[in-house]
This record gives sequence, structure tokens and C-alpha cells, in this order.
Amino acid sequence: MENIHALQAFLSSQKNIVITTHQKPDGDAMGSSLALYNYLVPFGHTVRVISPTEYPTYFSYLPGYDEVWNYLENPQLSQIAIEAADIIFCLDFNDLKRIEPLDELIQKNTNKKIVLLDHHLYPKIDADWILHDVKASSTCELVFRFLEIYDPKFKITHEIAECIYTGILTDTASFSNGATNKKSLEIAAHLLDCGLNIIYVQEQLNQNGREEKLRFLGNALFRNMIIREDIGIGIIVVDKKDAYRFNLQTGDTEGLVNYPLTIKNVKVAILIKQEPKIIKLSFRSKGDYSVEKICREHFEGGGHRNASGGRSFLTVQETIDKIIAIFEKEKLV
Ligand code: 5GP
Ligand code: MN
Repeated sequence: MENIHALQAFLSSQKNIVITTHQKPDGDAMGSSLALYNYLVPFGHTVRVISPTEYPTYFSYLPGYDEVWNYLENPQLSQIAIEAADIIFCLDFNDLKRIEPLDELIQKNTNKKIVLLDHHLYPKIDADWILHDVKASSTCELVFRFLEIYDPKFKITHEIAECIYTGILTDTASFSNGATNKKSLEIAAHLLDCGLNIIYVQEQLNQNGREEKLRFLGNALFRNMIIREDIGIGIIVVDKKDAYRFNLQTGDTEGLVNYPLTIKNVKVAILIKQEPKIIKLSFRSKGDYSVEKICREHFEGGGHRNASGGRSFLTVQETIDKIIAIFEKEKLV
């Protein structure tokens, strides 16, 4: 299916559609999946959004949230939906590893049409139709651009607007980081014209939290942050004990990694998060320095130049030591 006309023709009759996105979906993953869901449902398609893992409850304001399936909770039903699917939309990931443990099912069902909308470096997904742009602010921007091509007269409902705005806002850190581009601002302005209530979205995202989460933030910055201005890095550690003590929920560490970057001489910030079986790593950088390369070469990961992730199978202390050894050689300062 090399062109958009083939896709339009394919979807001109009612189809079984699966939309999936990366593990522990963030605002862009949830927003893009649900924007597309809200667009497709009125055409009579059977649409199922399947997340490979659990997802944050603080996105429950997104229209369609209650219809999302967590594969870990619903493996049999998810399998039925994937086997019955005519087409699978892959949103906001560049590598099937990012949808483990759902990747096996997708790989087994090779007879499905695949559409990929993504903005991460080095996409490794074999798709029939691709909209991939590393300069896109977010996958939500790409859903908007996809709809502009696929259905130039598409109507932006308030449901679609809230979903798209959420992903743009979260991936650009409220239009402040390097992902912010002209198109993202234009889309936001357009969504406003279509009746989007930006105060409502910002209240849901930033003024709807739990006390434990705020105290966890204070504790992490006070006790668990290592600042090494001499080599230009700052590390925050979240271990299993903290997760238990502060009753951490999925998504509660979102944004935490950015705090060390507020220090002048810190060029790279790293979050080390101890999970039941592995250590999950988040990297952020300032300016031209690419943390994507570090994640790809040392931590089986990837992402964007200034925001990437990876994993470590070492202990927390060994992971800290490995990171420090890498940046002692990188000469950031
Ligand atoms: P975060 O640190 O917010 O989890 O992720 C930052 C960026 O890196 C996101 O765009 C995310 O999709 C990507 N990313 C996070 N973890 C991984 C990983 O393990 N592998 C790859 N390829 N990308 C990742
Ligand atoms: Mn994204």
C-alpha cells in the first residue's frame, strides 16, 4: 500500500482496526492513539486501542480512555482483536521492542496492513504506509498531519482536539523544549479555533495530582540526586523502596528527569528507575548533544537527540558507575 489513495480505498469499507503504542504510554502515546480512535470510530469501524502495559490514570480525562485495553490485563481478548484486525496503526514507537510483550503477537500476524506514525530516530518497523518525521514535535502532530493528507476536510471535534493538544503539550514540555516547532504552534492555534479549552487540559494535567507524588518529588530532589557539574551531568535515582514508600503509580516519575537540567553546568540529566526486573533509564540533554547515541550504544535504547531512554541489567550502583564512567570520557564541560 504505497500511497494514500490505497489506504483511503482500503478504509472506505468498515474494518477491524487496532491502534497500539509504546509501553507505559505517555501523553503523546495516549493522545495520538485516542485522537485517531476518536476520528475512526464514527465511520463505523471496530477500533481497539491496545497498550502493551499499564498506563497513567491521570490521562483518564482523555475521551476514549475507558475503552483502552491493557494487554497485560487482557491478553486473550487482545489476541482476538489483533487476529481479527485488518489493519494495525503503530503510533509513537520506532522498534517492536518498545511494545513488548505485545511485539510477539504483532510479529506472528504478518497478514495485517501496518501504518506507522512516528517521530523517533531510526525507525525499524516494516509498514505499508509510513509518516515518519524526526522533526515532528510529537506523534500527535503526525496524527493531525496524517488526517490532513488522508481526509483534507476532516472535522476536529473537541474529543480529537483534547487528545492532540495533550500529546503536543507533553512532548514539547508546554512549548518550551527543542521539539517545539512552527507546525505544533499552528496546530494548537487551529485547535483553539475549533473550540479547544486549553485551561481544562492544563488543569487535568498539572492541577489534578496526589500529595504523595509531590512529596516524592521533594524527596527525590533532596536525597536522591547526584550532581556532577565537573563532568556536566545530574542523576536522579528512584529505587523500589521509594516506589513503595510514596505509593508511586504509573507515570508518577514523568518529567522528573528534567530537574537537573535547571543547573547551569548540567548538560545531561539521567533518571535511574529501578523496576521489578530491570532498570529503566531516561536521558535528557541541552543543546546539540545527543543522548540518543549514548542510549543506543550503551543501554539498548534510543529515542530523540535530546530525550531518549534505555535499560540496564546491572544494579543501581553499577548503573550509576557505568554512567559516570561514560561521561568522564564524553568531556561535556
Ligand atoms: P522517556 O525517558 O520519557 O521514557 O523516553 C524518552 C524518549 O525515548 C521517548 O521518545 C521514548 O519513546 C524513547 N525511549 C524510551 N525508552 C526507550 C527504549 O528503551 N528504547 C528506545 N528505542 N527508545 C526509548
Ligand atoms: Mn512522542
